[in-house]
Amino acid sequence: MFERGLLVHYHEIGLKGKNRGRFERQLVRNLQTAAGGLTGGTVSRFASRLFVPITDEDALEALIERVARTPGVSYLGDAYVASRLPDDMARAALHALRVESERRGGAATFAIDARRSATDHPESSMEINRRVGAYVQAETGLAVNLGAPDVTVRIEVVQGDTYVYARRVEGAGGLPIGASGRVVSLLSAGIDSPVATWRMMKRGATVTAVHFSGRPQTDAASEHLVADICRTLGGWGGVDALVVVPFGDLQREIALACPPDLRVLLYRRLMVRVAETIAGRAGARALVTGESLGQVASQTLDNIAVVDAVANMPVLRPLIGMDKQEIIAEAQALGTYEISTQSHDDCCTLFMPRTPETHATVAQVEAGEVDLDLERMVSDALALAETVGLK
Ligand code: ATP
Ligand code: MG
Repeated sequence: MFERGLLVHYHEIGLKGKNRGRFERQLVRNLQTAAGGLTGGTVSRFASRLFVPITDEDALEALIERVARTPGVSYLGDAYVASRLPDDMARAALHALRVESERRGGAATFAIDARRSATDHPESSMEINRRVGAYVQAETGLAVNLGAPDVTVRIEVVQGDTYVYARRVEGAGGLPIGASGRVVSLLSAGIDSPVATWRMMKRGATVTAVHFSGRPQTDAASEHLVADICRTLGGWGGVDALVVVPFGDLQREIALACPPDLRVLLYRRLMVRVAETIAGRAGARALVTGESLGQVASQTLDNIAVVDAVANMPVLRPLIGMDKQEIIAEAQALGTYEISTQSHDDCCTLFMPRTPETHATVAQVEAGEVDLDLERMVSDALALAETVGLK
């Protein structure tokens, strides 16, 4: 039988000039981590492709999902490895077609799509298509349909071998995590910030997640949900640390000392100060939030400016121009929506005023904050912060 594995293609990292080797090695490491206990083999790299050996067929679906979800992967094929000998190549194509058509519950038409990266191969791609197509047709009786085949069998002639696959799965795209440095993501148990976090992971950022919980004024439900979200987004890499800050007493302090309509903004400004200290310690270069312009009262341009005014590092908002429906669809595809819609107390709704300020000014919030001992509050928050294990 044929050796089998996932043949992984990447796209954007192929374009990165002198960084290319570094990005590729990073993707190899990430795939090795993602594949974890699901493969007994080692990920290898050759001719602008990566190969993840399949050693346990029972783990195949889980392996495909993990690999496809790894940022940097453009698409993958569930591939059989054959030699470059014509008969071997043709038998691999027949086998791949049979396995895929069984998986789909049948197929009536097929096409062969060959390409050669090894230019020393004697047959042209066209010749391979015709020869292997004729063989598969004779063996199966299926019709060739080049326009809209039920199954396309792809043959890639690479260096010494041929990789043959009939099942192609689209990947996450983007850049390998670890290629773009570290960010601190302000992660609530809501719908938006998990999507924002994922978008940064997809651009190659490693994430330290920081969650402010309402504890001790609320229970710890949101903390468990956020830990679950981190695992769903990539507990095998990507989000590699979760810091939980019990924030309820500090919110209470703000609620008692400050104008009610500014509460949410003052919570946010304190969150940014605390998160920035955590970021400094973790070597992160930016904060990330799940805000989208105008979605709620605190996300007007004026209020965003008021929160940004306390930040010393960039606050990235990858969802700023997205509609709620688009964000929900992405959360559903990621698997975080189900977690975010479970009931929990959100710390921001603690001591919520009836009419929050929608167009605050920096002078107004600074005046609202004068009675707070901010330095002590930040150090209280840091003293209470706990790092949660994600494994
Ligand atoms: P989300 O769905 O991400 O909670 P939201 O639409 O509820 O967002 P807000 O409650 O205004 O919006 O929060 C805006 C952003 O502030 C969030 O996306 C998140 O990045 C950050 N944030 C809010 N609450 C918390 C929290 N408890 N812990 C950490 N970050 C938070
Ligand atoms: Mg929220």
